[in-house]
Amino acid sequence: MDAKIGLIRGDGIGPEIVTEAKKVLDRVCAKYGHTFHYEELLLGGASIDAYGVPLTDETIEAAKTCDAVLMGSIGGDAKTSPWYKLEPSKRPEAGLLGIRKALGLFANLRPAKLYMELRDACPLHDRVIPNGFDLIIVRELTGGLYFGERKTFTENGKVTAIDTLKYNEDEIRRIAIRAFDIAEKRRKKVTSVDKANVLDSSRLWRKIVEEVSHDYPDVTLENMLVDNCAMQLVKDPGQFDVVLTENMFGDILSDEASMITGSIGMLSSASLNETKFGLYEPSGGSAPDIAGTGKANPIATILSAAMMLRFSLDLEKEADAVEAAVQQVMTEGYRTFDIMSDGCNKVSTSEMGDAIAERV
Ligand code: NAD
Repeated sequence: MDAKIGLIRGDGIGPEIVTEAKKVLDRVCAKYGHTFHYEELLLGGASIDAYGVPLTDETIEAAKTCDAVLMGSIGGDAKTSPWYKLEPSKRPEAGLLGIRKALGLFANLRPAKLYMELRDACPLHDRVIPNGFDLIIVRELTGGLYFGERKTFTENGKVTAIDTLKYNEDEIRRIAIRAFDIAEKRRKKVTSVDKANVLDSSRLWRKIVEEVSHDYPDVTLENMLVDNCAMQLVKDPGQFDVVLTENMFGDILSDEASMITGSIGMLSSASLNETKFGLYEPSGGSAPDIAGTGKANPIATILSAAMMLRFSLDLEKEADAVEAAVQQVMTEGYRTFDIMSDGCNKVSTSEMGDAIAERV
């Protein structure tokens, strides 16, 4: 196939980890006979340096012409970088929020998988994860409390603040459909997380998700209250396959889920819109503390590229091949410094990229 991919190399370790992901994609193209055309896009600190703003209209328009965008992380050290002397709307992170909004990216996918080879990095006890875990959180990204009306005012002489949690049925339905579609390709279970014992928005959430579930008879739906889900994630994470939830619950639960894998450098993510288009990026930040040292783990970005193959380009077997290559280097003992343990083979960012590309 021919595909056009936007590449946002980003800041800090971003350019290093994107280079390795592209190396793996080049290998996929060579092996499976695809041609990917790349368009370099600037976002965040790199865009501030070039244009004085973290996101330009040109970047948004160019991204819209791509089938998908692969991105390294953006941002710098808040204490030392001149980017953080700018007003908040001109800082690197504003570019990321801006591009998500401009591209209508309403579905955030955050897989959390424990590689048994990295078992020691997981803070959970052996008896809790006898067989590891492999789940994906599907979080609604453009509605709910973070986007509702808010104000701070004085009432009866006291400063008072209000935030509004609002969802309409269409917003719930489209994210639920995404979650069920993903579950159909996995272990066929959706856990929908809400607070339906208290919140009206959650009661609507539950009603619509149950309606959507009728179109997916081979997928099991389970409803779970968010407080219980927070407990179950550390009590028995192996029970989850696809976790579907609204914006704020998803924000919190996805960080909890990433923490129990024990390694930020291994965690991919994707944000999708109504079409097949998606923005794919590692879950971690730009790690300015290790930029340029060859210590960055490129696996999160490589796994994000695998998600891109699967969700935007419908290249299932190619995505499987990349994920299998990552599993293989783990089994063979290749480790970047963040996941290094005794007896393993310590490799640099580019050596890890080489090892994975060779095994695709
Ligand atoms: P961070 O995730 O960049 O770093 C936290 C720790 O994890 C550091 O010790 C870092 O060295 C390590 N780490 C992160 N990714 C790694 C990798 N791939 N390999 C090895 N080690 C890795 O978080 P932070 O230090 O709080 O933030 C740094 C910058 O990143 C800030 O400007 C922040 O705003 C930005 N940030 C960007 C994104 C994004 O682009 N989506 C997300 C989070 C943070």
